[in-house]
Amino acid sequence: MKDKTALVTGAASGIGKATALLFAKEGASVIISDLQEAAGEAVAADIRSAGGKSAFFKADVSVPEQMESLVNFSVTTFGRLDMAVNNAGISGEMNAAADMSIEGWNKVIAVNLNSVFYGMKYQLQAMLKTGGGSIVNVGSILSSVGFAGAAGYTAAKHGIIGLTQTAAVEYAAQNIRINTVGPGFIDTPLLGLLSEEMKKQVITLHPVGRLGKSVEVAELIVWLASDKAAFVTGSYYPVDGGYLAR
Ligand code: NAP
Repeated sequence: MKDKTALVTGAASGIGKATALLFAKEGASVIISDLQEAAGEAVAADIRSAGGKSAFFKADVSVPEQMESLVNFSVTTFGRLDMAVNNAGISGEMNAAADMSIEGWNKVIAVNLNSVFYGMKYQLQAMLKTGGGSIVNVGSILSSVGFAGAAGYTAAKHGIIGLTQTAAVEYAAQNIRINTVGPGFIDTPLLGLLSEEMKKQVITLHPVGRLGKSVEVAELIVWLASDKAAFVTGSYYPVDGGYLAR
């Protein structure tokens, strides 16, 4: 990936950070974006001190103007945008549908779904100017099944699949591929809300008998973004320790 530039949102932590570090290991120049400035700057600094190219840009993925600025920053910093990972997300309010607040619903849809549309809109515009690219959207196992207490999160993650499929069909002829990954429960700060008891219960839902690791998701994301996946577009790839097979 020596001459390529990758952009990762939510790259200060968890799956996004592991993905950014793996892109850098493959030789790509990496734009790190997140709300968390210090942690995001630290990831970019780690990549630079290992001899790679990286820069941080603070952006809130739920604000369209900031997503446009982020893509512009990527293009002005490294000259082009070849790969983008729309990863930033939140777990959101946990309540059954009848009890979910309107604010909670709107927030999780804004951060986990609207963000992917805003990201793709500007990433596609940049990629069209340079003859193609690849986008990976981070969904969830909850892109294809429900989970009690997470109506907004689940609806957002299902929506990402529709966005991915539609844009993949629209831009395949222009050499842009778009796919969704569906992680099972991964051991990141996002699971901070779960008690140890709940974590144990969640583990039993994964036939491999453990939570996933961020790097195990990053491996799939970076492969999908790479030219090795040249015939892969419009699809959904779970990486879930067998969760969906049960
Ligand atoms: P994480 O460790 O919490 O990392 C997410 C990063 O995104 C955090 O630095 C977070 O900052 C940032 N972020 C949150 N809202 C943002 C916004 N509006 N604009 C920009 N950045 C924002 O979470 P993760 O587990 O790696 O999750 C990454 C993605 O994987 C998410 O889309 C999540 O839904 C998905 N996923 C995770 C799991 C899992 O079990 N961990 C399973 C399936 C799918 P703050 O710390 O300020 O929130």
